[in-house]
Amino acid sequence: MPELPEVEVSRMGVSQHLNQQIISDVVVRTPKLRWDIPTSQLQTLIGQRITAISRRAKYLIIETGKGNIIIHLGMSGSLRVIDSKVALKKHDHVDICIGDKVLRLNDPRRFGAVLFSEYGTQHALFDKLGPEPLTGDFNATHLIAKCAKRKAVIKLVIMDNPVVVGVGNIYANECLFLCGIHPQIPANELTKKQLTALVAVIKQVLVAAIKQGGTTLKDFSQTDGKPGYFAQSLNVYGRGGEACLKCQSILQEVKIGQRASVFCPSCQSV
Ligand SMILES: [Zn+2]
Repeated sequence: MPELPEVEVSRMGVSQHLNQQIISDVVVRTPKLRWDIPTSQLQTLIGQRITAISRRAKYLIIETGKGNIIIHLGMSGSLRVIDSKVALKKHDHVDICIGDKVLRLNDPRRFGAVLFSEYGTQHALFDKLGPEPLTGDFNATHLIAKCAKRKAVIKLVIMDNPVVVGVGNIYANECLFLCGIHPQIPANELTKKQLTALVAVIKQVLVAAIKQGGTTLKDFSQTDGKPGYFAQSLNVYGRGGEACLKCQSILQEVKIGQRASVFCPSCQSV
């Protein structure tokens, strides 16, 4: 599933091609992905200039002076900017056309979304989102306050969108490992020092992933190239039963909130 770094890399890749271009058509081939696609509202943007491509959590927002297209990649979505003559592939659901180029959304599992908003992030989707992890609003004071009365396990708390957006399963696993924090410890049992370190690590890990993903940007507009995602160097995620890269103990895997969680029983004993 695309996580925040992949979405940010997609935003950078798409921006290069779309910013300041005029939307010449909006083609919707599939009326519903996760939600109904508001085709007629999206088509009111034909003729409008794209003024920015921004991101809030894992939503991309293609902005114009008259309204915005909100895109979420769901479980399996990807975006390509290609020549409009390129033949359609299976699961190519939506085209945002800009002259002879097109931003094409492909989504095999159809958990993605294409929506319309009149003003920026004024959409019910954004109402309960917490701070962006890479802004100053996500800081130690904030996380300490959020954890003070929470008995939920720390992994679920950092993946909880009202606490902070964009920390998905892969990065929650990795960040807790790097901090030596057991994923199943209740949030209110962690010290201020531990939570301060966790905030710093979340920022570092996400920044590093975005930087790494940026190196694949050159492939972004290739028709059969990879859609801007990247191989991640992971310490624990997907490595249950293998040896810890720090201490050689066998990594354990448990389910937390239905999601696979991998941790090192000796490095993450706290
Ligand atoms: Zn270890």
